[in-house]
Amino acid sequence: MKKLNLLFLVILQLGCSNSDSTVTNATSTDGKIDISTVVKAKYFNSAVVSTNGTSISIKSNGLPEHKTPYWGVGNALYEDFPTGYHANVNTSMAAQNYTMTIPAKPSVATTHEETTLGAIGLALNGVPIYNDREGGNVPLDALTITTFDFSGAHPGPGKDYHYHTTGRYTTSDDAKLVGFLRDGFPIYGRKDNDGSYPSNLDAYGGHTGVTADFSEALYHYHASNINYLNTGYYVLKAGAYYGIKGPFTQ
Ligand SMILES: [Zn+2]
Ligand SMILES: [Zn+2]
Repeated sequence: MKKLNLLFLVILQLGCSNSDSTVTNATSTDGKIDISTVVKAKYFNSAVVSTNGTSISIKSNGLPEHKTPYWGVGNALYEDFPTGYHANVNTSMAAQNYTMTIPAKPSVATTHEETTLGAIGLALNGVPIYNDREGGNVPLDALTITTFDFSGAHPGPGKDYHYHTTGRYTTSDDAKLVGFLRDGFPIYGRKDNDGSYPSNLDAYGGHTGVTADFSEALYHYHASNINYLNTGYYVLKAGAYYGIKGPFTQ
């Protein structure tokens, strides 16, 4: 009888430690999920992915595979601006030489660094993702937005075409994977995979959960669900990174 009680106690303790470790795993997949397979499978167009086990490098020329007025009249991929929109002072775009290096297992940063002007990530087609700011580090204004194409993109002074917002060829009111930011965390459209708009996004515009691409709960960003200045464009990412930013060279 005494032996049986002891056994029962042991089972109880095993049960406790098991449930404890389950709870720990559920709340801290951070830094444990390897994104390499998805990154290699999803990047296309000019983007070339290489890995060394701990980090992933993505090289691209930054030119889109889709239509935009910035290809120039006469190009097979030329299409006109949205009504009321017009060319940027930089009327053309040109190939660049980008390399973004991200961790294979992205993890949360202890100090969350603000995103800055320039590339904060790469869309799956190798086009850079920018935040909600323009030269002078001021928020995008209505005048600047009139230079956007249907993709919420335009070239900067260096003929460097880039996305600021959601748009026709990347994500528009859906749950599509847009790309990865410089901290290695993926960014999705305004919806989650179940078709709902996420309601628990943190200060960095993301949350932890499963997606169409990651069956284990991974931190991921979402495009903002705010109709920016009532333009119909939705900023992809504003504010600080959730994780630790890797290098982006051009
Ligand atoms: Zn811009
Ligand atoms: Zn989500």
